[in-house]
Amino acid sequence: MEQTKCLIIGSGPAGYTAAIYAARANLNPILYTGILPGGQLTQTTEIENFPGYPQGVDGNQMMEDLRQQALRFGTDMRDGSILSLDKDGDIFTAHAEDGRDISAQTVIIATGATAKYLGLADEEKYRGSGVSACATCDGFFYRRKTVAVVGGGDTACEDALYLSHLAKKVYMIVRKPYLRASQVMQKRVREAENIEILFEHNTLGLFGEDGVEGAHLIKRKGEADEELLDIAIDGFFLAIGHKPNSAIVEHLADTDEAGFIIVDDKQQTRTAGLFAAGDVCDPMFRQAIVAAGSGCKAAMSAERYITEKK
Ligand code: NDP
Repeated sequence: MEQTKCLIIGSGPAGYTAAIYAARANLNPILYTGILPGGQLTQTTEIENFPGYPQGVDGNQMMEDLRQQALRFGTDMRDGSILSLDKDGDIFTAHAEDGRDISAQTVIIATGATAKYLGLADEEKYRGSGVSACATCDGFFYRRKTVAVVGGGDTACEDALYLSHLAKKVYMIVRKPYLRASQVMQKRVREAENIEILFEHNTLGLFGEDGVEGAHLIKRKGEADEELLDIAIDGFFLAIGHKPNSAIVEHLADTDEAGFIIVDDKQQTRTAGLFAAGDVCDPMFRQAIVAAGSGCKAAMSAERYITEKK
């Protein structure tokens, strides 16, 4: 069995930053990237709010830079996932997708979060033929077409704006009478001529022969003036938040009711030596800069934990 002082699971800003710090502290970290190397930021466009980039930075570029920085200090970087994690005495044992077994003194879980769906049967039916949770991945297919984005947060606004540059028309389907997004994003959406916001609308289903041709909506559900209506669309994009990828440690860490891992101010979970960082333990901020900061804290805490054990 391979041995390491620090096993890092996940490769977003949290995982890579943890690797940079752990490697520089001579913990010889092994990092498994998970199914999406670079994490969610590889599916976004420009990152405008990460300090140090006055002109913004491409999400893929930033994640590649972080990866290179982690490699430079000697991180053992591996594509693929960790399938199971257990603790026996003071030592963690992990089984990886590539068949390897690893024993680790500390583990940093930075597995991020995954896009949520509404739970409609039609989302499954049309997945890949009109339904997507990644505007920047799939927007290209909807040039000069009509699409809808579900949600009223920053992600929904960002996706709607991105799609508005490609598509002929973009509907935003928002269940509340207002947007939850930041003021700057709200303003941009309102100023876009081809975005129409459908407030107080919910989606009941989708229809179409060979792919999505429209959506069945309900306006002001449950009110006296409730109304059913259909809109013609070619694409249906989900932007309603994310679910934390915490299942692999559910027996080792406490989570809140949504599944976000609960950590203390040192990124420590309920289990000694198991730390969490990034979106998997952040229901609130979900920002790259916050994830990177928590990855740094997790690695420094891991180093101190090992030193104190000696
Ligand atoms: P949010 O949780 O902020 O917003 C989710 C949106 O989806 C809300 O409008 C919510 O409605 C709606 N929604 C949730 N469930 C359903 C449902 N079942 N049916 C219909 N609508 C639903 O998630 P985001 O992903 O937008 O953002 C998460 C965090 O990341 C936020 O803190 C955000 O600020 C941040 N972020 C920042 C960005 C930036 O700074 N550039 C970019 C992207 C995200 P309701 O309001 O009714 O709950």
